[in-house]
Amino acid sequence: MTIEELWQSAIGEIELSVSKANFITWIKNAKLIAKDGGTCTLEVPNQFTREWLENKCNTLILKALRNSSCDVKKVAYVVASRRPLDISPPRVEEPAVATESQLGFLSSTINESTNLNPKYDFSSFIVGSFNELAHAAAVSLSKPENIGKEYNPFFIYGGVGLGKTHLLQAIGNELIRKHPGQIKVKYISSEVFTSELISAIRIQKMEDFKRKYRKIDVLIIDDIQFLAGKEKTQIEFFHTFNALYEANKQIIISSDRPPKAIPTLEERLCSRFEGGMTVDISYPDFESRIAILKQKLDTFDFTLSDEIINFIASKIQKNVRELEGSLNKISAYYKTTNTVPDLTKTKELLKSLIVRPPKRISPSKIMDTVAEFYEIPLVDIIDGGRKKELVKPRQISMYLLREELHESYPSIGKKLGGRDHTTVIHACDKIEKARQADENLGMELNLIKERLYNA
Ligand code: ADP
Ligand code: MG
Repeated sequence: MTIEELWQSAIGEIELSVSKANFITWIKNAKLIAKDGGTCTLEVPNQFTREWLENKCNTLILKALRNSSCDVKKVAYVVASRRPLDISPPRVEEPAVATESQLGFLSSTINESTNLNPKYDFSSFIVGSFNELAHAAAVSLSKPENIGKEYNPFFIYGGVGLGKTHLLQAIGNELIRKHPGQIKVKYISSEVFTSELISAIRIQKMEDFKRKYRKIDVLIIDDIQFLAGKEKTQIEFFHTFNALYEANKQIIISSDRPPKAIPTLEERLCSRFEGGMTVDISYPDFESRIAILKQKLDTFDFTLSDEIINFIASKIQKNVRELEGSLNKISAYYKTTNTVPDLTKTKELLKSLIVRPPKRISPSKIMDTVAEFYEIPLVDIIDGGRKKELVKPRQISMYLLREELHESYPSIGKKLGGRDHTTVIHACDKIEKARQADENLGMELNLIKERLYNA
């Protein structure tokens, strides 16, 4: 395996474990430049990136490299020295683009004024029952006559890697492709939006900030759940939101959960979000997973037998990003060996994605995860009173302790503040019934489990 292939394979794995924003900011511009014995040397563009990777991502990077080459023991980070005077063709000022194209499957150039990545379009988006509604709504929104009307705001939610960002960006891309220069679109993550907002507040440039956003016709804000808990930001966001909304600007928002389930989201903001069109994307069914794999395969230079495709689709169920990840792994193998793996080899290659050794999760892990999800201190869940916002997480903790760990009712009662076993039985029944009746609750439980098993 060449070092480039090793890095491609590792990066394919890393991409699955970090958010897209983090991936683009920190990982994408790093490059594996040497492997000397057990030491891999990564070149990064600046000192800041180096520190960040060293402190926060080292384990992840090391693990990914080791999964592809088990003799790797250590990762060293070096900051790229400024290039010596260039004697090769004049390609100054374009280093980022060059790196991207070296990375093949990541290649695409982000539009500077819209922040949109042109690779996300409707034609590459597979539609199945799991995302049908979201897709249909997105398609109507990509027609200028519909923007700023009844789908305003457009709120789309669903778990990680299920295509929210893809769909959001497809709307923007479609609008600017069909109506170049006529509709101003801006895509922004809620983290970036928040930090712009904060600095505008700090330097008293709110008017400039509002003016800037008022020029936009379609504002796309990804992953709005990050606004949770930031009170001041929410208030300012609310005003900006209203200003845009009243000027008939289209606002498109994504989140990992429905507005009501975002803890500490200001009431007014929540009802504003709910005032437009809210759709969810759920998990792809088996047929959709097959369709996704087949379509993605078209972009690779090898094919796979139906047996292997079926195998992947039956084993990798979590999300679309992992389906892509499995093909990236096979592709790395294909590039090294020039052969397509057979079923046995495929199983081996995808081991890290498939074999989910039944992780030992502990009762306290469940309770911590629930507390963290609802942003309520664990002590309040255990010992707090009967306030509604405490009772629900408490009952969910009981339910999960029962469902996931098969704990006895009395022992669950003991863990949650010494409550009687009949209270626990009642709670478990209640959550089970509510789960069947209320889609949102089902979604919340899935998200909590996702955190529980994938943390
Ligand atoms: P999210 O924003 O929900 O976490 P993304 O939009 O980043 O998910 O999707 C993860 C990856 O899966 C992306 O590469 C995206 O292109 C791909 N993807 C997601 N849904 C689909 C789909 N329905 N058809 C084709 N590709 C998809
Ligand atoms: Mg996303």
